[in-house]
Amino acid sequence: MFTYPQIADYRINPMNQNLQTPVPCRALSSAGLTRNGHPRKRKPLTPEQRQKKRARDAEYSRKNKDRKSAYQKAYYGKNKIEALLFQNAYYIKNKAAVKANTRKYYRENKAESLEYQRQYRIANRAAISARQKVYAKENPDIISRNGRLRYIRKKGVAIGNTGTIAGWERFWRKQKRVSCYWCGLRVAGKKAHMDHIIALAKGGSHSIENLCISCSNCNQRKNAKTLEQWNASLAQPVLL
Ligand SMILES: [Zn+2]
Repeated sequence: MFTYPQIADYRINPMNQNLQTPVPCRALSSAGLTRNGHPRKRKPLTPEQRQKKRARDAEYSRKNKDRKSAYQKAYYGKNKIEALLFQNAYYIKNKAAVKANTRKYYRENKAESLEYQRQYRIANRAAISARQKVYAKENPDIISRNGRLRYIRKKGVAIGNTGTIAGWERFWRKQKRVSCYWCGLRVAGKKAHMDHIIALAKGGSHSIENLCISCSNCNQRKNAKTLEQWNASLAQPVLL
């Protein structure tokens, strides 16, 4: 099976296959060699020359779009692993730009993108569900958070900043012991419940101001009681 090299290795140009030991591009260039390891005969371009060359290349690409894409497809077919490594290296280096570009393309071609996604889902159903299972096993907290959010959205209550809530929850989930907001019992962060001070069923919102950490006992007993009913049942009512 093919295993991806470490991130540091991505910088190694996969094009210089004729070298015994691959050398990072930058090292080659500073040693006066081309990316294929041959001595560089021409002088490096000045910034102005480079800019002109870039414009020329862009013009050439525009005029020979089909030819270029056919060549790229053929190259990709022949050198799939190298091409993937190269793509990975490019992505790591230009993450923000790539993401912005993808979003722009999506906005401009929404109908096609959606149809493409639909076809992809139909064609790769088994692989997708296998991937999802692995993801769910590795990220149980994210999955349960998303499930809870879906459940809350269905109720149609006001929802605050979910990022803030997630950050807050991540913090106390890691704590060895946290205090129940209602009874003060110390419970493991992993086992504590996230509770709505004013129950969602009583018009409370899913926002940071209305959330507290609760022990499972209090959370279950409180359920959908109003605050008055619940406070009355506590040995030491929480003053609000
Ligand atoms: Zn409690």
